[in-house]
Amino acid sequence: MKIYPIPAFGDNYLWLVANGTRALAVDPGDATPVLAALERHRLTLDTILITHHHGDHIGGVAELVRRTGARVYGPADERIAEVTDPVAEGRRIDLPWLGVALTVLEVPGHTRSHIAWYGNDALFCGDTLFAAGCGRLFEGTAEQMWHSLSRIASLPLHTRIYCAHEYTESNLRFAQAVEPDNQALIARARGVAKLRAADQPSVPFALAEELATNPFLRVREAAIIGAAEAHAGRKLKSPVEVFTVLREWKNVF
Ligand code: ZN
Ligand code: FE
Repeated sequence: MKIYPIPAFGDNYLWLVANGTRALAVDPGDATPVLAALERHRLTLDTILITHHHGDHIGGVAELVRRTGARVYGPADERIAEVTDPVAEGRRIDLPWLGVALTVLEVPGHTRSHIAWYGNDALFCGDTLFAAGCGRLFEGTAEQMWHSLSRIASLPLHTRIYCAHEYTESNLRFAQAVEPDNQALIARARGVAKLRAADQPSVPFALAEELATNPFLRVREAAIIGAAEAHAGRKLKSPVEVFTVLREWKNVF
């Protein structure tokens, strides 16, 4: 199984997962670079997986279906007309040609019907968890997002996270403002700066690295609680409250 990032729109990654001559695409927001990648790697598109309804994630689906006849698995949401197989929490998609079964996790927060795809130690999480950050709350509540991120945080530590945007450097700047003395964060920022200077993606990344450096997954750490309380100017009584303050702080950072 090979996983290729397809850069699009400046900071999106559309993911192509291939085995032999067949492939699946995750969140193909733009058909053109996907078709080019299929041709370059001599692949036939078999399946499309969608995480949520935003245009940068589904914009290419209609054309890809027209050209390839791929099946489309995604949230049951009337805003994604191209879905042929609507899925919900716990649904397992068997892809024998890929040697993988993928399971659906419902992860509302960024949008109300956002899902993630998990299998073979990989998680395709769309705009829910980013490297050193998390998605904005467009439709869900902070509590929902916190719950969704907690579910992701409880996956095996070696899980590889394939998120949909290259937001890592700006996320790391915020993370370092929140937690300036975190040595793992300092080391990660250095590593990511090197990758980006060489025009390499900072995605995927391991869940273990997120747990050590992502402020949104570290809301039980004393340093993070202290920074969030100083920013809010009041005591914060729960992880959800700390998360809420961090998310609002990041919005204006
Ligand atoms: Zn989105
Ligand atoms: Fe997006």
